[in-house]
Order: sequence, then structure tokens, then C-alpha cells
Amino acid sequence: MPPRALDARALAALAANPGCRRRALLDGAGVDKARLAEALGSPSAFGQSQFAFARGNSFEASVKADGGAELLRLLCRRLGVEPPAPADVTVPDLSAPGAAGRTARTALELRAAAGRGTWTLLDHPMLSLEVAGAAVYLEPDAVVVDPEGTVTVIEIKSFPILDGSADPSKVGAAARQSAVYVLALGAHRVRERVLLVCPKDFSNIPAADLLDVRPQLSVTRRQLGRLTRLESIAAALPADVTFDVSLPPVELTRSVESVPAAYAPECLAACELAFHCRGRARAAGEVMTLGRAVRGELGRLRTVDAVLDAAADPGPAADPAAAALRRAARLRAEALGVTV
Ligand code: SF4
Repeated sequence: MPPRALDARALAALAANPGCRRRALLDGAGVDKARLAEALGSPSAFGQSQFAFARGNSFEASVKADGGAELLRLLCRRLGVEPPAPADVTVPDLSAPGAAGRTARTALELRAAAGRGTWTLLDHPMLSLEVAGAAVYLEPDAVVVDPEGTVTVIEIKSFPILDGSADPSKVGAAARQSAVYVLALGAHRVRERVLLVCPKDFSNIPAADLLDVRPQLSVTRRQLGRLTRLESIAAALPADVTFDVSLPPVELTRSVESVPAAYAPECLAACELAFHCRGRARAAGEVMTLGRAVRGELGRLRTVDAVLDAAADPGPAADPAAAALRRAARLRAEALGVTV
């Protein structure tokens, strides 16, 4: 099967859960996790609705209309410079066969733009970044090269800016995604602030702001660097492991379960296998299903059974989490007038 390409959204999510070997391997191998989740009997509700997708596409097209005149105007206003006349903006053709061909073409045009001394708009360029030993191809909405040769990443989103502010979680996700593009442009002189363009107050009128992605850049750089190399994950697996979605669910489940996972509730918003992994984690009684904060409070107690045993043990506890649980169990029993 042709591998499913990773995108910056997936990479940002991958960096958000660097401890999950399962996701690293499946993404690195280009496995279609949505189809895999369906074949496992736990289809994901993850992803963008068709309506949101169409709305996003039409907003992006309107922002980029007329050779990107509005886009350049928004960027120049934020940079405090005079916008160029539309005729002075170069919009090169980036078409080439295959992702590798498009990446090479983009690199060529970026180099040409840096020495041109005028404005250049690259619409849907293709960039590549090495992640866990494999090349990942990334396609930002646009990048702009100014006359000094500095590259700015443009991120166009369809969530609204209401009364001058937008949903912080969505802005945060956009910043993490943009940081991946900035990393991929590392060989060029790239601005560490990206232009985020969103519709203003539910209209189709674009509003934009420069987003400082330096914090996200350092986190993403560190997390991606820590990702276990795929070869070492694959080497530890039985030789007959396969993620062929036409296999019976029992066999497929065995294969998937042979790769260690690190489920956390955040997976629900970031990974197609979340319902499958949550089901297995709940069945194993993992306290991580209750969230990272609870998991952190419980220290060495990893399962719900271990927590209940610790709470019910009448003896003194050396472990601070177990001591706190015992005290809580005693207080509860006193309040309810029952014995522990
Ligand atoms: S849902 Fe499963 S595979 Fe995906 S990141 Fe979470 S634990 Fe890993």
C-alpha cells in the first residue's frame, strides 16, 4: 500500500506524546491509522468535518485571491512596511512530480527568491523534515519571502477571531503546527514569528497577527529529537507483525498490541487510535486514563487495583501517595459511618 504521508498537524501531535512507540512506528511507516482503527472495531471520531474542511478551503482561496494581494497587505501591515504592487510579487509555479520533486522545486524557488530582492509568494510549497530517521513531507498554506530574503510562514485557519481574540487552544495548536514548518525551513533565513490569518467575527474578512513560535520551536525540536528511532522499535517486534487492515480483528489487535503504547486522555484530540488505546488502557486499569495530573499524584501506583489495595491496607505506608490514600479512605469511612 502507498504510505500515508504525515503532515505538520500529525507531527505536532507526535511531538505532544513522544513516549508513544506505537504512534511513532505507525506514523513512521505511513500506516493509515483511521482505517486501522476502523478495522480494529474502534473507529475514531477524530478529524475535521467535511463542512469545516470546505469552509477552510474557501476562506484560504479568498485570502490568496489576486496573486496574494490581500495576504501581502496583511503581512506588510504587521511588519510595518509598505505592501508591494501586485505586479511586483512573484508567484512561482511549484508543480513537479511526486513529493520529493515538489520539495526540490520549492528549495530551488526559495533560493531564487532570496536573491531576487523583491517579494515572492510560494503557494502550498513542499518542505521536508527528517523525523525519527524518515523523511516527512510538509505543506504549509504559504510562505512569503521579502526583499531582504527573510522567509515568513503563513498559516490560514478557519476558526474566527472574535473581538480581537481567538480560542487559545486553537491558536496554540496552530502555533505548534507552524513551528514544525519553521523547523523544516531551518536551512533558510526564516522568521520565528508566523502570520496567522483567520476570519474576523464569523465574516469572510481576513484578520491577521504575527505569532511568536519560539517557545513551540524549542519544545518541538526537543521532542522530535527524543523520538525513538523507528529501527529500534521495529527491531523489538515479532517478525510476523503486520498492520494489514484486511486481517481479522483478532490478528490485527495482536499486532497492534505488540507495539508499546502510552495512552493519555490527550490522545482523544490527537490520534485516530485513541478509542482503541483507551479501551485497552481502561481494561488494564491504568490510572493514566484519569489524566497525567492524577497519574503524577499517584507516583508508583500505576493501576486502579494497586490504588484500591493501597487505600484498603490498614498498616503504615512508607509511600507518600499510599499514605495519603489511606488517610482519605479513613476520612471517607468516618464521614459515611462505615468501616474501611
Ligand atoms: S492513541 Fe494510542 S497510538 Fe495514538 S498516541 Fe495515544 S497511545 Fe499512542
